[in-house]
Amino acid sequence: MSMTLEEIKEKYEVIIGLEVHAQLKTKSKIFATASTEFGKAPNENVTPVCLGLPGVLPVLNKVVVNMGILTGLALNCEIPNRCKFDRKQYFYADLPKGYQISQYDEPIAIKGFIKIAGKTIGITRAHLEEDAGKLVHAGADGLAGSTYSKVDLNRAGTPLLEIVSEPDIRSAEEARAYMEELRNIVRYAGVCDGNLEEGSMRCDANVSLRLWGQKEFGTRAEIKNINSFRALQRAIEYEIERQADLIEDGEKIVQETRLWNEQKGITESMRGKEDAHDYRYFPEPDLMPLEISEEWIEEVRKQLPELPQQKRDRYQEQLGLSEYDATVIVESMEMAGFFDKVVELQTNIKMAVNWLMGDVTAYLKENKLTINETKLTPESLVEMVNLIDKGTISNNIGKKIILTLLEKGGSAAKIVEEQGMSVISDESAIKDIVKKVIKSNQSQVDLYKSGKTQLFGFFVGQVMKETKGRANPQTVNKLVKEELDN
Ligand code: ADP
Ligand code: MG
Repeated sequence: MSMTLEEIKEKYEVIIGLEVHAQLKTKSKIFATASTEFGKAPNENVTPVCLGLPGVLPVLNKVVVNMGILTGLALNCEIPNRCKFDRKQYFYADLPKGYQISQYDEPIAIKGFIKIAGKTIGITRAHLEEDAGKLVHAGADGLAGSTYSKVDLNRAGTPLLEIVSEPDIRSAEEARAYMEELRNIVRYAGVCDGNLEEGSMRCDANVSLRLWGQKEFGTRAEIKNINSFRALQRAIEYEIERQADLIEDGEKIVQETRLWNEQKGITESMRGKEDAHDYRYFPEPDLMPLEISEEWIEEVRKQLPELPQQKRDRYQEQLGLSEYDATVIVESMEMAGFFDKVVELQTNIKMAVNWLMGDVTAYLKENKLTINETKLTPESLVEMVNLIDKGTISNNIGKKIILTLLEKGGSAAKIVEEQGMSVISDESAIKDIVKKVIKSNQSQVDLYKSGKTQLFGFFVGQVMKETKGRANPQTVNKLVKEELDN
């Protein structure tokens, strides 16, 4: 008696809050001098602090704090003048200290928001913490055939910023849009590379249902192991259906942590959800509370780059782009950076946007590249657009040139010159060709004159063929008409 998603949404309101971990792009760890460089041999990036040896002391990395403040500001948060670190105790093989240093009741950023498609989603808090190590299990790469797991502590102590949303999200689509915008913000701010597949950005989705009109929230389940935008959407949709089925059957939802199983397309129970008191949080005695002055905050504020929302607004309001074009360009930081340079160089912006959104984007999709990974430069694109704008080359020739520019690079003007691609606008040259075409197609001329005027296109086509598409179409039309009618 499963209900469809549509039926569920008529009866129940979906409540979602996301907890997102962003790995901060620092050179060294949050409390140790060890490098955070990726791809090193297991346990190469460790110091006694990462190993949790007795007697070692954590030393806070200032760059981490700066990135925390910067991200907080980018998320419209308040940055309190004081924050502190706390110990969150739990036992697991990837956590040698037996506790994680995190922030509990005094985080670095509070009370922010981001906007998605006209809706505001509140940010409850963003707090700094250290990542745990990684368990490499039997059978994994390098451990094939083994009967044991190994611990790699390279990741232990990598700085994370956990960004917690208010339960303001109301659908799987909204959750995805929120996550995409958040990813863009941290990428533009330069604090995280935002790669879900590689785990530099991780997302836990909290999902619950309540009857429309009910005041209290229902019991939530938390879903982990989501490593793509598509998985986020699918996992939430599955979870909505699972919970609705249970409620309809008169059963209770258990507060628990569930894992998204990508292969099976379902969420599976992992463990009962701990409450905060289970972690025995207490203030980290080895670190002083952190005082953050207004001057410090203002200093960081000056480093805020133009953020995705501001870019979209500017593209629409100042450059006249459509909302759709502005959104698509900003979605890719590389594309937006490229476009900004095109704007700086000054050209016919509408034309440039059409090339970027059309042929260039199609090429990038087909070859799975970002624009920076091609040979096209803002200068070469602008040069080509200018040639089309001036009428030196046709749009069709442009389609050939853009491919060369993407694959081999170079100068558009040079390609045009070398390959003789420029438009023939010299009327007398075109007139000679028109005359030749008419002379060699006498029977069609007779038919045309006897009233078969649809043959007009045939003559134009023949002239274009003779000129290899380089004749100015307006001139050809005009001259063919003149010659046929006299
Ligand atoms: P925990 O670490 O225990 O999961 P947090 O406070 O860090 O708790 O995060 C809780 C997340 O769950 C927040 O994003 C919040 O918006 C969301 N949330 C809280 N209650 C509900 C609920 N009933 N349904 C859906 N989401 C919820
Ligand atoms: Mg949490």
